[in-house]
Amino acid sequence: MKDKINILLIYTGGTIGMVKDYDSDSLKPFNFRKLEKHIPELNQLDCRIDSVSFEKPIDSSNMNANHWLNIAELIESHYETHDGFVVLHGSDTMSYTASALSFMLENLSKPVIFTGSQLPIGDLRTDAKENLITAIQIASLRKKDAPLIGEVCLYFEYKLYRANRTTKINAEHFQAFASLNYPALAESGVHLNVFEENLLKINNRKKLKVHKQMDSNVAILKLFPGITEALFRSVLNTLNLKALIIETYGAGNAPTEKWLFSELKYALEKGIHIINVTQCSGGSVNMGQYETSQQLKKLGVIDGKNSTTEAAITKLMYLIGNKVSSKLFKTVFETSLRGEMN
Ligand code: ASP
Repeated sequence: MKDKINILLIYTGGTIGMVKDYDSDSLKPFNFRKLEKHIPELNQLDCRIDSVSFEKPIDSSNMNANHWLNIAELIESHYETHDGFVVLHGSDTMSYTASALSFMLENLSKPVIFTGSQLPIGDLRTDAKENLITAIQIASLRKKDAPLIGEVCLYFEYKLYRANRTTKINAEHFQAFASLNYPALAESGVHLNVFEENLLKINNRKKLKVHKQMDSNVAILKLFPGITEALFRSVLNTLNLKALIIETYGAGNAPTEKWLFSELKYALEKGIHIINVTQCSGGSVNMGQYETSQQLKKLGVIDGKNSTTEAAITKLMYLIGNKVSSKLFKTVFETSLRGEMN
């Protein structure tokens, strides 16, 4: 008889495990053991499920790099004993955490599937059950006796995405996530269709390497018409700032005002990395296409290409944490490390 697939369920918090506190009329996290009680179907799955929970489950708005490390270390310490990992996480910052994990886990050859829900698990119309059950099924998929998927993914409302391509796009719809610059990796309908051509190739010969240093001395500044020099300067003068993502217009465009040029030049001379990411949900930066991006290109601003802001900020934290030298930084950032840009 074949051995059962071992799945580790990591519960971090979020709506999926929340209940209504009728006194305050707000949602609060509850004990993880109750999650299994709410989904008895979990026992019917053809795999063995172990679970671990954050000591204090949190709303994902409270996530930070320490929690990411916590998840990475749980995966690391169970990597040999388990075939796949499902991380239950609040949807609000799920794309950030999942993107961060994609960088922290190098040479992954097993699936790490993030999921959550818009409605609490106890709710009559909850989306939690489908999301959780299918995420576990996806984490159990095998090909030639090895995991089919070897990357960090996000499963929500019938679609599996590459995690570092996703963004939360809706606070209300069950279809809360989108991956506008990369196609879905799988779709769940009557059949579970995996689009294998979209998956990252697995290299089994390389050992998992867990990168634990993430540097949070980074910032994101979204441009808006009328943005002032004072605002820009105050952000650049943030204590210990090492990198700034500018969310530009369209294909990477910014005002051509002189002050912007001098502020950026000053920051770059100080060794602050500047990255150009578009504030559009889909499409790519193309520096130099318009006059309004030529000065950014000339200055040597880093091209965020078609990265999401979530992938760009976590990649920055990872590269700075890994002490990538200033000389190589631009080249490394502009290279796709985990399929996060093209
Ligand atoms: N505020 C919740 C969280 O992100 C929302 C959710 O779980 O969907 O933790």
